[in-house]
Amino acid sequence: MATEFRIGSGHDSHRLGQGNPMCLGGVAIERASEVVAHSDGDVLLHALTDALLGAMAWGDIGEWFPDTDPRYQGCDSQEFVISVLEKIKQEGWTPVNVDSTVFLQSPKLSPYKKVIRKRLASLMDIPITSISFKAKTGEHVGPIGRSESIQASVVLLLKQTASSTHS
Ligand code: MG
Repeated sequence: MATEFRIGSGHDSHRLGQGNPMCLGGVAIERASEVVAHSDGDVLLHALTDALLGAMAWGDIGEWFPDTDPRYQGCDSQEFVISVLEKIKQEGWTPVNVDSTVFLQSPKLSPYKKVIRKRLASLMDIPITSISFKAKTGEHVGPIGRSESIQASVVLLLKQTASSTHS
């Protein structure tokens, strides 16, 4: 039987300002603006969570983890990924690869690329060679370029595992 695949995409943005210390993929970013958010404002993990939900056609992060719910205040967003991924695996799917981009004017994220990829690889339980992390500035224009916001987008692929085929 042919292997089944599902693709998912996710996007997230947060305002920069007085809020939480910046975290990307669960990694603290030094000398960065704070992020205004109900949870920890980790745009990368929020986009990743939405990509996982999107691949399964399971709605979006706001339905699963409402920002009005006090349980998620200041939450470590790795929990969102862990909890959704666990359910995806129970349904018989597993991640193949992740391609992610973060849009931030400053600081430069190049020193963090390896550690963020490592963290995502361990969260997703796939090799680091299956995790791509790219960083773009806003070229000093628009909300990203003026350091008013940070954004992330993620595309990922899931494959159905042999043990879970229902048919
Ligand atoms: Mg968010």
